[in-house]
Amino acid sequence: VAWTYEHGRVESAVRRLSPQPADPLVDGLDKYLSETDVLDRVAALDANGAYPTEILAELRARGLAELFMPDRANTPELCRLTELLARRGGGLAITVAVNALALLPVYLAGSDAQCAHVARRLRAGASAALLLTELDHGSNLLRGEAAATATDGGFALTGDKQLINGGTAHDLLIALLRTTPAGGDGDPFRAVGHFTLFMVDRGPTVEALPRWRTLPARSADISGVRFAGTPVPSDSVIDRVGSGFPLVQKTLMVSHGGIAALAAGAATAARALGHGYAAERDVYGAPIAMLGAIAEHLARLRALEVVVGALAVKAACATNRFGPGAGYLAAAAKFSCCRLAEEAVAEGRAVLGARALLEELPYARLIRDTLLYGVFDGTSHLMLDTLSGYVPRAGASGKPTLAATRELYATPPRPLREVGRRPWRPYTPSLAARSTDLAAAAGSEPVARIASYARTLAEAAVRTEAWRTDQAYRFAAAKVLAQLEGLLATCELALPECRAAVGLPAAADPADEVDARYALAWLGRRVEHGLDDLTARQGVH
Ligand SMILES: Cc1cc2nc3c(=O)[nH]c(=O)nc-3n(C[C@H](O)[C@H](O)[C@H](O)COP(=O)(O)OP(=O)(O)OC[C@H]3O[C@@H](n4cnc5c(N)ncnc54)[C@H](O)[C@@H]3O)c2cc1C
Repeated sequence: VAWTYEHGRVESAVRRLSPQPADPLVDGLDKYLSETDVLDRVAALDANGAYPTEILAELRARGLAELFMPDRANTPELCRLTELLARRGGGLAITVAVNALALLPVYLAGSDAQCAHVARRLRAGASAALLLTELDHGSNLLRGEAAATATDGGFALTGDKQLINGGTAHDLLIALLRTTPAGGDGDPFRAVGHFTLFMVDRGPTVEALPRWRTLPARSADISGVRFAGTPVPSDSVIDRVGSGFPLVQKTLMVSHGGIAALAAGAATAARALGHGYAAERDVYGAPIAMLGAIAEHLARLRALEVVVGALAVKAACATNRFGPGAGYLAAAAKFSCCRLAEEAVAEGRAVLGARALLEELPYARLIRDTLLYGVFDGTSHLMLDTLSGYVPRAGASGKPTLAATRELYATPPRPLREVGRRPWRPYTPSLAARSTDLAAAAGSEPVARIASYARTLAEAAVRTEAWRTDQAYRFAAAKVLAQLEGLLATCELALPECRAAVGLPAAADPADEVDARYALAWLGRRVEHGLDDLTARQGVH
């Protein structure tokens, strides 16, 4: 049935909106993954919970590993790769994308010898895994117990890491381990220097713990790793002893943008499958797309795809320009894109009816897979915790911002190894300053409204007792901030007057403008409700 392959064959919002030209290597992988036989095999692997060994080998034969090479790996390409994989299947997508995630600490701080080792191992067919989480401590990495103890000429590693993507099958292990014993005072600031990142080649003293059966991403190898006195030389330390936790924080400031790209793939798949089905399904003598309610779901699907795609692309461009310094935008993208992708999948579910729930058809997999994105790599709560720190300054005015926005989109792909090692330069001009400058340059009314919302948010949120005392209130404000960042990215990448103002050529598909204007009106009302809700909550506290 034609519609069941739509998600594998469409041109995604990420691709349509990206300022960077298409890349032949990424396009080759995209073409391979659009073949009917490959799409069927990806579906079968998910149904059986089987690791995608053969598909990986075929992707590698088409040059996949080159995209992760330390001298090349860059966020615009990785964003496209991640999106196109997620459209075909979450299990395959996270199995591949974990290489970029795991290798980020090496790109950001690894020695030349470590970068060369990674390149050799990847070319020989190895995959990487990132070992942060421990079951007992979840989001709080500073409580980790798995340890590295100094020995003559190196370290001995002990302890378990859990819920590790590639815990059984991946050979190049990047592990966060305790190098200073836990103090009794529980002071989290002191604990920051107690951890070190190690690059470990899987060997006989590394035990794979049983694989978990997960609701999403069933073909991925989510398991555990036990170090049983694993000896490693001292040159397996990434950066230096004690720098592991700050380096993980930098890593996550980049990787959050990658999760936004996974969400963009999910939103595109929901749009493609929803539209494909509605065009074919005939229960009253015409396609159901003609029914008013279905037409609204379809309009929302298109709108959500554009917003999620725009914000994922912007996060990739910002990281390409500012490295981990773009962490604020990456966190906003992770939160908003994951939320809106879940919503897109729900809109599509309403279009597909029963066919969304049949395991033999692709939509059921999409429903399951999309649940993951807001949970791993820092949960949505943690994103809101980060974003809430930026709410008080969201309404501030400051230096002119348009030149930096233009630079962000104009910068050609740069290796993370290069951009991530530049002196720390956070990219955090306020939302109000950025939208005011763009509104003036583009003469754009929707952007002017974003500036006004940003000022209202900052004023309304912060001058309250609830802001100081209630985490839920701060998170509600941070949610509005993240929504506004999604709308601003949509303006910049999909409205012709804004594209011109930020130095971009006309959009590839004029339909994106129509969908963007629909999104700005629809989701703008949601922002207003969010601001009203903050005011109403103030009365309650
Ligand atoms: C499929 C899959 C793949 C994974 N891959 C990897 C991997 O490759 N490597 C790896 O290291 N880990 C991996 N993980 C682990 C994942 O990153 C953690 O599950 C995640 O970080 C959250 O930990 P937790 O589930 O234990 O939640 P907990 O930390 O126990 O949190 C429970 C709840 O409390 C909330 N919460 C936590 N802190 C706060 C706070 N400060 N304020 C408000 N609310 C808060 C959380 O959002 C959550 O809702 C994977 C997990 C899954 C499901």
